[in-house]
Amino acid sequence: MTDDTDLRFETLAITAGRPSAYPGNPLSTPIVLASNFRADGAVEYARDGGTDTWQALEAAVGVLEGGDAIAFASGMAAAAAILESLPTGASVVVPADCYAGVRTLLNDGAAHGRWKVSAVDIADTAATEQAAWAADLLWLESPTNPLIDVADLPRLCSFGRDRGAMVVVDNTFATPLLQRPLSWGADYVVHSATKFIGGHSDLLMGVVVGRDPATSAPIRRRRQLAGGTPGALESYLALRGLRTLPIRLERSQASAGVLAERLAAHPGVSRVRYPGLATDPGHARAAAQMAGFGSMLAFEVAGGAAAADAACAGVRVVVAATSLGGVETTIERRAKLPGQEHIPPGLIRMSVGVEHVEDLWADLDRALRGATG
Ligand code: PLP
Repeated sequence: MTDDTDLRFETLAITAGRPSAYPGNPLSTPIVLASNFRADGAVEYARDGGTDTWQALEAAVGVLEGGDAIAFASGMAAAAAILESLPTGASVVVPADCYAGVRTLLNDGAAHGRWKVSAVDIADTAATEQAAWAADLLWLESPTNPLIDVADLPRLCSFGRDRGAMVVVDNTFATPLLQRPLSWGADYVVHSATKFIGGHSDLLMGVVVGRDPATSAPIRRRRQLAGGTPGALESYLALRGLRTLPIRLERSQASAGVLAERLAAHPGVSRVRYPGLATDPGHARAAAQMAGFGSMLAFEVAGGAAAADAACAGVRVVVAATSLGGVETTIERRAKLPGQEHIPPGLIRMSVGVEHVEDLWADLDRALRGATG
């Protein structure tokens, strides 16, 4: 029997989290709809220990990230479980550009005196190290949502660790196929599994992956006490989605590279942010630390907010929608959302899906020409 560690990610995404190879067993863990279990077994109540379906997903994500995974009802429930584990008065360093929900949750906690927050440009390593010198938690996200900034994760993870801070990396955009922050010394990886892991825009889920079972124990306890538990159907669907993540990502990432190049040369676009472009400020860093440049990019429409809104209204194949990481290509003008004042008004964030790249390009080109005249 081949040891798991010999297998490549593409294979592990298929083999991990399966029922045992006992004759007659199903290949996939069924949807176990259970809260209550007969007494004296390993699990007596689902919130205390999980069901087979959650555990199958956790096993697969854990193998891919190289740690011990805990599934949650959403990415925000996963993030909240980590934040709740902080002592009162903790100091938290967070990227100035990162998922707005996490920033809002942190700001709410700060407003209630729960912790202190400082926001920093995490593409600026020296500034981040200075801000995090005495931090209790260094929260990292790379590439960031929505500016697609790239942080020096290997250096910042080991810096945080040396300084005694808890280091968390939101790995939603990169997925474990492109980077594995635990291998650089992060304590936790967080995912909105709603996005690339699920991959079909049909579920909400989150995952925390701890470095080892001891690191994940306090987060597992938060889930048990606060009850941010996942549903069985969602866990099943997320695992089913994860099986095709490598092949979806391969396709969408290749298309993202093509679209980024073409958008950069488009008269209706003033700037493209994608680390795969040689001119992008994050290019060298991403090339050094990531196994690919990902499927997320952002571009600024010449003509600003009104033109960007018109472009979003003008697409036919691409979908104007807020979420990302699905098989469908989606776009959104992010500055229209509250709390996004740092974002250029005409910036559109795009999550590239698995449609034919020429259909995507024809649609974007037409919508942009229509919007920018
Ligand atoms: N982290 C990132 C990078 C996200 O983009 C999101 C959602 O958009 C979240 C976390 C929150 O995840 P969820 O919406 O599953 O709660």
